[in-house]
Amino acid sequence: MQLLKDKIVKYGEVLSGNVLKVDSFINQQIDPELTMEIGQQFYRLFKDKNITKIVTIESSGIAFGLATAIAFGNIPLIFAKKHFSVLSNNYYQTNVYSFTKKTNYVVSIEKDFINEQDNILIIDDFLANGNAVIGLVDLVTQAKANVNGIGIVIEKAFQDGHRRVEKLGYHIESLACIERFEDGEIFFR
Ligand code: 5GP
Repeated sequence: MQLLKDKIVKYGEVLSGNVLKVDSFINQQIDPELTMEIGQQFYRLFKDKNITKIVTIESSGIAFGLATAIAFGNIPLIFAKKHFSVLSNNYYQTNVYSFTKKTNYVVSIEKDFINEQDNILIIDDFLANGNAVIGLVDLVTQAKANVNGIGIVIEKAFQDGHRRVEKLGYHIESLACIERFEDGEIFFR
């Protein structure tokens, strides 16, 4: 998606540890026009997949999930919470290793929001090693719903996520696919 790539080149900052900082249009300040266009693009890519709900993870997935849910004609958006409950068994819960924080955390979705009739489109801002997406797949699978697609805004293709997710048999699309970082420069596939 050209508009997205242009923004990445103009405003993205390559940090150590293969992290791309995009706080000025994705992770803190949000660009509404770009975000809505991203929703439309995910709609075009997955419109034939009988999607009934969008699932993402807080917090940066929410804006893209919402834009996509609107593009699909106002289907529900559910975001997994970084939250653990011992008090209730009314949550699907799973462990995720955080690429940016280098720690494990629990994510959860309340059982009432997904059921076995659902065809889910998973949306997230970044794909690195695939742990966040695979955690979301786990939650959807616990609900016996179908994962009918995975949409990623920025994929870092030199990390392992794409291969891991495809190996599980899921259809995954990314809107900007980064081949490598070199001396602070960003090269797309
Ligand atoms: P994964 O679980 O695929 O290893 O990493 C994906 C998650 O880590 C995303 O939800 C995103 O929040 C975060 N992430 C991974 N790589 C980057 C990056 O280069 N930049 C930013 N801003 N977030 C990243």
